[in-house]
Amino acid sequence: MLKDKTLGIYVHIPFCIRKCNYCDFPSYPGLDAIFRDYTRAVCREIETVASKHSDMTVDTIFFGGGTPSVLPADCISDIMNSLSANFEISEDAEISIEINPGTITGEKAEAYRKIGFNRASIGLQSASNNLLRFMGRIHTEEMFEECVKLLKGSGFHNINADVIFGVPTQTMEDWQETVELVLEKGVTHVSAYSLKIEEGTPWHELNERGKLPAVDEDLEREMYYWVIKKLKDAGFRHYEISNFAKPGFECRHNLKYWTNRPYLGFGSAAHSYIDDVRYSNEENPCEYIGRIAEGVLPVASSEYIGAEEKLSERFILGLRLVEGVSLKDLEREFGSEALKKYDETIRMLVGKNLLCFENDMLRLTSLGLDFANQVWAEFLM
Ligand code: SF4
Repeated sequence: MLKDKTLGIYVHIPFCIRKCNYCDFPSYPGLDAIFRDYTRAVCREIETVASKHSDMTVDTIFFGGGTPSVLPADCISDIMNSLSANFEISEDAEISIEINPGTITGEKAEAYRKIGFNRASIGLQSASNNLLRFMGRIHTEEMFEECVKLLKGSGFHNINADVIFGVPTQTMEDWQETVELVLEKGVTHVSAYSLKIEEGTPWHELNERGKLPAVDEDLEREMYYWVIKKLKDAGFRHYEISNFAKPGFECRHNLKYWTNRPYLGFGSAAHSYIDDVRYSNEENPCEYIGRIAEGVLPVASSEYIGAEEKLSERFILGLRLVEGVSLKDLEREFGSEALKKYDETIRMLVGKNLLCFENDMLRLTSLGLDFANQVWAEFLM
């Protein structure tokens, strides 16, 4: 297969105002003192890595976190300038920034457009202020409304809202109001995630002590079916297990992850996948800055992805997409012998009505959407 010459870039901003009760992302509050050192370190990492990939064109950039919008806009601008100076970026590149509604101002929204962002992703999570407080979020529903207004006023037309269901104490009405709010505000993309209680979070600890209200699994599933129908009726395409977009507004950057395309990650805890190697950076932002200052790459772990593993990943990631994976494409890339190894697994999952074929695409059935974790597990090497 010809080498993919397009590249996605992820920049991790590991700062938050406060840690939410359910969050296990590599993000930290109270590190304002290192904002500038961190920015300089990221720019230096970009300068060091870019020359190895001068044959590639960047067509997606994603600033995620953490909360990129807590970093002063001039720091974001410095990082973007460094990317522009060191990479070839295509004119129609999708350039996204994640925004916490509690951290946005009109000046920041204007600055983001000037810097070149053309897609904004807002972490709304819920329209219920009680639930937001309980989750430890810093914003309110009103702040979300103001955030959308500021972004639209600054010229953003491509806006995502992140929303969460299956939250302890959340009712069906809370959920419906949340989804109805994002529709009313005219976003073009919705990421609807089911909450997982992750180890190391305050909610995990509460749960272990039996102090976190339980989530009714049937209600959680009902919320999922409801959002699928609601967004479909509103003209959104359900294109990935948790993602919905108005036609043409699918997140091109995230599609790279689900189709195993190359991407580079900059900043602490950022992951990269390029030339069949997957690697991740030092998680702690101070250690990350220290490693860069010493003139060493801040890589914490790396792994070569051989053909067998790559094929297994192509199934697992590709089956996140509602349209599924093309067996013809996989056969062209990996050969029919390699693919044969999965014949039995596919037959078994089709027999259980968890997978089905549509033309040459293998995809999850609606029952399969409910048992996606079990389906993916069958494709593990
Ligand atoms: S704002 Fe996002 S990244 Fe920051 S603590 Fe909350 S959930 Fe985690």
